[in-house]
Amino acid sequence: MGKVILTGDRPTGRLHIGHYVGSLRRRVELQNSGEYEKIFIMIADAQALTDNAGNPEKVRQNIIEVALDYLSCGLDPAKSTMFIQSQVSELTELAFYYMNLVTVQRLQRNPTVKAEIIMRGFAENSEDEAASNKKGIPVGFFTYPISQASDITAFRATTVPVGEDQEPMIEQTREIVRKFNSTYGETLVEPEILLPSNAACLRLPGTDGKAKMSKSLGNCIYLSDSAEEVWAKVKGMFTDPGHLQVSDPGKVEGNTVFTYLDAFCRDEHFGKFRDCFVGKKASFTFNSLDEVKAQYRAGGLGDMMIKNFLNAVLNDTLEPIRQRRKELEKNLPYVYDVLRKGSQVAQAEAAKTLAAVKHAMKIDYFEKGVLEELLKEQTEKFK
Ligand code: ATP
Ligand code: MG
Repeated sequence: MGKVILTGDRPTGRLHIGHYVGSLRRRVELQNSGEYEKIFIMIADAQALTDNAGNPEKVRQNIIEVALDYLSCGLDPAKSTMFIQSQVSELTELAFYYMNLVTVQRLQRNPTVKAEIIMRGFAENSEDEAASNKKGIPVGFFTYPISQASDITAFRATTVPVGEDQEPMIEQTREIVRKFNSTYGETLVEPEILLPSNAACLRLPGTDGKAKMSKSLGNCIYLSDSAEEVWAKVKGMFTDPGHLQVSDPGKVEGNTVFTYLDAFCRDEHFGKFRDCFVGKKASFTFNSLDEVKAQYRAGGLGDMMIKNFLNAVLNDTLEPIRQRRKELEKNLPYVYDVLRKGSQVAQAEAAKTLAAVKHAMKIDYFEKGVLEELLKEQTEKFK
């Protein structure tokens, strides 16, 4: 059996560099590796609605933003099926049946859901207490790990390339698969998570230094930000608060500028952007990021210099993405066409799994041959 990928993003905003290093860059590499038989990339609008129920327009408008980001990063409709979750109703049906296999207590233990409940102001201990006490936790949001299990299993995904925050979701999916297969017979495929190999990419921090760059936190550098916007954000980034004078020794650990460099910098950048390290007071020649870090730790290397370099490094990746996006923005019907066709392909695939699931669960009464069998058996019974 060939390897299959399923992954996706919520259309709650444009995609940012955290998505890029955590998942998107990897997807494009995997897509082009030729090692995967099928690749499904989902825009999770139904999931986005679980915590944006009152804001359907936001979700609707962000479908195209995410799709534009996909295509400009190099996802290729000839190799990857890009689709919209809500257009594949089989996914909702699967989730309904999987709900019987998961306990409320198990969902309550999910650390990502716990953190998100607080972040979104759904719980009593949320940051915004006044708002949160009124809100409560929407049932749909609470159960989204189950819906994610349907998304993954519907496509018989073997591999799910995602950021670290998704680990508990994949674990939940694996549990559902095992429970389903042991209860109803071998039907579903157990997926593996594929995490970024570089530690900085597991969970890229925000420009404010917060643990995760997230659309919902407003601490993002977007793939579609202009060069000016990127520079303004880089300039305002946190470094080491103890690094007051250029001559002071600086800390690299927990310094977001260095975390971003860890995620984006390649050796070729040192030749290409040599000028960034030429200053009025001091100049340096570096050939690797380790050398930059050593100098920063020793002192004498200013924050402006490393920010300038980071800015150049980021734009080196972002400029081609921006250019492709500009072209695609002129051809929106094409982008929707990709999504419509992708959704049709995805639906056909999910329908096969749903049929197998219903068969295993003995709720396939009117499928070919099933009723005949049932009638034969029950006619005997009622004789
Ligand atoms: P939201 O705040 O609406 O949840 P988000 O920014 O967390 O948005 P998602 O759509 O939930 O983005 O995540 C899509 C994918 O990107 C997931 O695989 C997730 O692990 C990955 N991802 C998101 N943020 C980061 C990050 N800061 N670092 C690494 N990977 C990330
Ligand atoms: Mg998220």
